[in-house]
Parts: sequence; structure tokens; C-alpha cells
Amino acid sequence: MSDCIVGIDLGTTNSEIAAFVDGQVRVLGPGETRMLPSCVGFSTAGDLLVGEAARNQQVLYPERTIRSIKRQMGSQEPVTLADKTFTPQEVSALILRELAEWASRVLGQPPRQAVITVPAYFSDAQRNATREAGALAGLDVVRILNEPTAAGLAYGLGDGSRQTALVYDLGGGTFDVSVLVIEGDITEVLSSHGDNRLGGDDFDDLLAAHLAKAFHDRHGVELGEHSAGKARLWWAAEQAKRKLSAEPDVKIHEAALVIESGTPLHLDIEISREEYEGLIRPLIESTLDSTSKALRDAGTTPDALDAILLVGGSTRTPLVSTLLRERIGLDPSQAVHPDLCVALGAGVLASRLAGHAIERVLVDVSPYSFGVSHLGERGGVPYPHCYRPIIPRNTPLPLTRTERYSTAYPYQTAVDVQVYQGEDEDALRNVLVGDFQVEGLTPTEEPNDILCRMHLDLDGILEVTAVEKRTGASKHITIANALTAKSAAEIAAGQQRIRELYESRGDVLEGWPAPDAPDNIDEDIDLVASALPAAGRAAASHLLERSRRLLDQMHEEDREAAIELHDQMDAAIAAGNTSELQNAVRALEELLFFVEGHR
Ligand code: ADP
Ligand code: MG
Repeated sequence: MSDCIVGIDLGTTNSEIAAFVDGQVRVLGPGETRMLPSCVGFSTAGDLLVGEAARNQQVLYPERTIRSIKRQMGSQEPVTLADKTFTPQEVSALILRELAEWASRVLGQPPRQAVITVPAYFSDAQRNATREAGALAGLDVVRILNEPTAAGLAYGLGDGSRQTALVYDLGGGTFDVSVLVIEGDITEVLSSHGDNRLGGDDFDDLLAAHLAKAFHDRHGVELGEHSAGKARLWWAAEQAKRKLSAEPDVKIHEAALVIESGTPLHLDIEISREEYEGLIRPLIESTLDSTSKALRDAGTTPDALDAILLVGGSTRTPLVSTLLRERIGLDPSQAVHPDLCVALGAGVLASRLAGHAIERVLVDVSPYSFGVSHLGERGGVPYPHCYRPIIPRNTPLPLTRTERYSTAYPYQTAVDVQVYQGEDEDALRNVLVGDFQVEGLTPTEEPNDILCRMHLDLDGILEVTAVEKRTGASKHITIANALTAKSAAEIAAGQQRIRELYESRGDVLEGWPAPDAPDNIDEDIDLVASALPAAGRAAASHLLERSRRLLDQMHEEDREAAIELHDQMDAAIAAGNTSELQNAVRALEELLFFVEGHR
């Protein structure tokens, strides 16, 4: 299996890894969900935590935990975690490293190459950052794949007829909508739209704000000052949101959310699905606007669609299906697990690239236009930042376009080319991709022509080169903003840092199935019988110890509950029952949080 390439869905909220195993593309991982929460943290003991364990401590230690790092990909801002700082790429690399570890347990060796998915709307800088994250995790990123395209690939499996499909992907932090044509082995993306700042997190925020207001109305206390209370409120909001996908109303009770002058103040509220839908409706409406745009760009109408494919955890919100059905007149399909479908699609492409017989040709498009700024006119006056698209959006990839520039004055030896992505005719309202200086031109009296070549590769990443027309000489291009790729030495140093950190992590994958036991990934087999993948056996006994020490400080009721949980944990550890152990760990953590916070 030396040529194994894995497919990775590096999600805002959850990440998954898939590969070709036993003649099939499978999502690999422990636990029922096979999802790795995209969370990284450091325990109070200083141990690195990745995934579930990091997510579990989020409420307790927000300053030692980072979630939704994907939203910061492409930014130069470092993130602080406990007493260390990281680039967003490094944090993502730790998540990728954990996924690679998961895969290596099944494959018998660490994967070296990967296809990683990104939202179609990801900018050039965000795509480059994703590539770098892969490199830091020791993975050669052979392809960056748009998520909706991956979903289309997953849905296309085993079906031969021609279908026009709308892929509606609403995850934790991003929204993407694309129109695809799937025919036999070919998946073609006709158009893509989206918002990389909209997702289930925003629903949580709205619901949390609603709860905070109710709390304020009742007790006259703002939660603003109480960070632990706020974190618990947010957690409660997310749980309530999920329940509201299945139930018409939900009761939220958070005891002693805040202690004010020695008095515990409780949050007690009931909210109906209808009320909740009132809060989030404007956000879902905005996704429907993007949906209409995508249909328009594809030159399609709703009645020409054969299918709506729902992707992403937030599409479990009933209002999503209701509104799509209402506007498009088609029942959305969830035939492929909405949380795993992107990873499966990435796995399909990865397998094909590795030479396995999953023949599927992929034609992807640039989801936005690329262009340059130039001196023109706006409102009758000269304006130096007019935008001229060179690569129009929704052009199939890869592609190359060449533009001609002329020097503006005699003996000019350098020109400045600013490349943007976006659709606004004012360049300054688009995203600056790079500020290119073409230098060393032959000084001439008459205008000197420069050919500027833009190549957009299959990953949607732009490369710019320039040639002086009269001499045919390539010209040196320097990029003034900081989006340049890192040098090999920098990457190697970064890899070393990630490797050392990762290898020192606290929550090792104990009790995993032996690497050479591929049977263990069978759908119906409990992958983690006798394995404690996320909470970890060590973490569980640590928690038990902590709890036992606190027993005599607890109120009687809490003590009884704690003792019962201890028994449950002991029994679960003895029986190797992961899900029971995880439930008990979670319940005990909550209890201890309450006890420790309010002693
Ligand atoms: P991402 O692609 O951003 O990693 P996912 O596709 O894993 O995200 O979706 C995560 C989001 O789905 C979270 O906001 C989570 O709260 C939400 N979610 C998961 N299950 C449900 C549910 N049953 N109802 C509503 N939202 C859900
Ligand atoms: Mg996703």
C-alpha cells in the first residue's frame, strides 16, 4: 500500500480522513462518528490535546483551547494557546497529524500524500495556508479539492445517469452552494457561491444571545463579565440547537450559571423550535440568496435540478429542508451521511490519483474572478483602482491567461501589478492576492510591453509570471504582501516543531485495533471496543482521582451522583465500553466543573 493517498475533510468543526481499503473508500477512525472535533488544546498539565479531549476541556479552559481555526486560515495573526503561540497553519497541522495517525492505524503505515478539501469560496491565501498545514504535518498535498465537488463525487458513486445537482453544504463555520453535473465518471461544477463566515456556530451564537438576554431579564445580570458562565451558556445553546432538530421544544436548565454576591443564579428557559427558527431564519434566507445566485450563474432554473444534496451537520436543521423544498420544489436528499460525505469524496479522488479503479474525471471551476487594478475612470473622474477581471469566475480549471502591460513613461524599468480576487468593479473592495513588482526591464524610450501570465492550477492557487515581450526574458517577480510560500527550510523547521509537539501529546491513542487488522473497520463492528480513543484511559483515571479527592467537599446530592459515575466509569473501563465511558466522563466533568467552580 505504498502509494496510498488519503482524502481529508479539514472542517471548521469536525475533520475526517478516508482512504481506499479492501476495495472500497472508507472513512477511517475510532468511535461511532469517525469524526475528529477540529479542536486543539493544552491540558493544565501542559499536555497537547487534539480532538474530543480538547473539545471537552473547552468550557473549562477556553484560554487553553482553540476551535474553528479554519476561520483564521490565511491570516498572518498568530494564535495564543496556553503560554505558546502558533500560526493557524500549525494548529491545523496538529489536527491533520492526528488524522494521519488514525489512518496509519488501519493502513499499517503513515500516509504520505493527501487530498485536502476546502470551501469553494476559500481565497488563494487560504488555499496556500491549507497546503502549508499539510506540509507541516508531513503530508504532501497532491490536490486541494473544493468541498461541494467532493460531496458530488461521494454522491456520484455507483450511479451512471446524467444528473444536475445542487450541493448545499452548511457546516459549523462555512456555507457553500454549488451546481454540479454528474454524468457517469464525470463531475463538472457549473457554479459555486457561498459565505466562509456563516454556519452552525452562528446559530449557536444567536441562541446563546437569546439565552443571555432571558437570563438578564430574569436576574438583571449581564453575562459579559463571567467568562466561565458564558462558555457554559454557549455549550448549552449548541446542545439545545441539536435537540431542536428532532424535537418541537427544549428545556434548558443550567444551575448556578453565575454566582452573584454569594447567590447562585440559575438559567431556566424553555424554547420552541418555532422561536428558534425565528432567530435563525434570516441566516438561512441568506443561504437561499446564494443558492439563487449559483443557479443563475450555472444558467439553470430550479425545475431543471434532479437533486439537492445536503452536506454538513447544520443541514440537519429542519428549516433548511423546509425552505429548500418550498423554494426549489424538490425534496433534498441525505442519502450519503452529511458529515462524512466530503471526506468520502476526497477519498474517491485520492484513490483515483493513487491509481485505483475509481475512474472519475473532475472538472472544477474557479469560484471567483481574478483580475488586476488599473487607472481608469469612475463617475467621470480618474480612479487608479479600477478592476479588470482577467479570469472570470466559474472558468474550468486549470487555466492560463496572459495580459499585456505597457510602461507608462520613457526608460521605466519596473512596473507594479496588483492582483485581486472578487467581483467588485472597485478593486479595493476585492481581496488583494498579491502585489507584484516586475523589475529589471530594458529602459526604452517608447512603451515597453510586458506579458503577464496568470496560471490558476487545479487547487485554485494562482501563480503569476512575467515576460518582457521585446527580449523574451522572464522577469523577476517579488510579492509585496506576505502571502509567499515558505521556504523548504522553514517548512522543515515547522515540521520538526509539529512532530515534537505531537509526539509529546497527552492523549495517546490507547487500545486501538492493531494496525494489521483491516477487518476492524467493518461498518457493523464497534471500532473501539476496549479502546478509549478520545477521552483516553489515562485521562479517565486522572478524572476519577480528582473527583475522589473532592468527594468530601461535595453536597450530599452531588456526592451520590459522583459515586454513581465513578462506579459507571470503573465498570466501563473493565468492560472496555467506550461510549459508556465517554458518557460518564462527560457527566463527571460537568459535575466537577460545578463543584470546583462553586466551592
Ligand atoms: P464543518 O464542515 O464546519 O466541520 P460539520 O459538517 O461537521 O461542520 O457540521 C458541524 C455543525 O453541525 C455544528 O455547528 C453542529 O452544531 C451542527 N450540527 C450537528 N448536528 C446537528 C443537528 N442534529 N442539528 C443541528 N445542527 C447540528
Ligand atoms: Mg464540512
